[in-house]
Amino acid sequence: MSSSQTTTIQVEPTQQSRLAQVDFNNLKFGQIMSDHMLVAEYDNGKWESVKIVPYGDLAVSPSMSALHYGQAIFEGIKGYKFEDGTVSIFRPDKNWERFNKSAARLQMPEVPEEIFIDGLKQLLDVDSEWVPNKEGTSLYIRPFMFATEAALGVHPSKSYKFIIITCPVGAYYSKPISLKVETHYTRAAEGGVGFSKNAGNYALSLYPTQLANDEGYDQIMWTDALEHKYIEEAGTANLIFRIGDKIITPHGDTILHGVTRRTIMELAEKWGYQAEQRKVSVQELIDGIKAGEVSEAFAAGTAATITHIDRIGFEGQDYTLPPVEGREFSNKVLGYLNDLRYGKTEDPFGWNL
Ligand code: PMP
Repeated sequence: MSSSQTTTIQVEPTQQSRLAQVDFNNLKFGQIMSDHMLVAEYDNGKWESVKIVPYGDLAVSPSMSALHYGQAIFEGIKGYKFEDGTVSIFRPDKNWERFNKSAARLQMPEVPEEIFIDGLKQLLDVDSEWVPNKEGTSLYIRPFMFATEAALGVHPSKSYKFIIITCPVGAYYSKPISLKVETHYTRAAEGGVGFSKNAGNYALSLYPTQLANDEGYDQIMWTDALEHKYIEEAGTANLIFRIGDKIITPHGDTILHGVTRRTIMELAEKWGYQAEQRKVSVQELIDGIKAGEVSEAFAAGTAATITHIDRIGFEGQDYTLPPVEGREFSNKVLGYLNDLRYGKTEDPFGWNL
């Protein structure tokens, strides 16, 4: 996709870098932002100014439509530093495509490649020292867009801000998690906005997730809105199972199509596994666990790449998955993607940008 506009990005460097104050050995996710952010303004039917400026507060109107009607979308991407200092971003083109699908569904303008991808690269050039270089660390990248028209009344906003902020994050070794199969609340329905990464999808998950936590589960396994029969995704990640000799992931427009899920399924195929994207019923999973056919179950997402699942609760009964050490496929994926993203192995797919 290209835009007819040519975009010049002005850079206004910070006069006071906060870099020296950051303890890179003790990074808490999402707490400390890098020195700069990219800010683009949309008005009068086009993207106008695009700037890289010092990270800081925004002045917004209390009648700004995003605050009332929720035209707000975002993405999550990671950047990595190779041993030689090269900074690479993992498949941001896929996040850009997904972002524009979210935008279209929420009647928001698309963001052109020159702003999303080229702007991101320029931002990382400016803040390259913020990309940590220790094993397992990365720079988390958060592009987002929201409606800024200062007027009440439900209609598509005439103006928007697109912003990219970034933050260094520490090595993330996630413990295996437990999931509760949700059979009452729902995340997304056919024809709804499940495939889009809009803010409302996260707000609606908080209350049912708290209830699941109170029952002793880490996350929810969402099921379809109609019958609660088919598995959708887990918390803020996609689900992948190894059942028999197949690698299987639920599919459909009610789930967010994750870049990690896509990457893992592509690898599965490349490595000669039978990879299937299709509906998976809760019953198929439970029967598979009982029969000892489900050898691996994990959540896939940018934050942790792979989070193993060790226990699934369904209708008051808990089902335990096999030990993590023996999970051949997911452990192989994790090792391979770590090497690829830190430039320790060739990148035959062109995934590092
Ligand atoms: N599902 C949801 C609801 C998510 O928020 C995420 C995280 N973006 C994912 C799946 C995984 O997507 P990705 O692999 O692109 O991070």
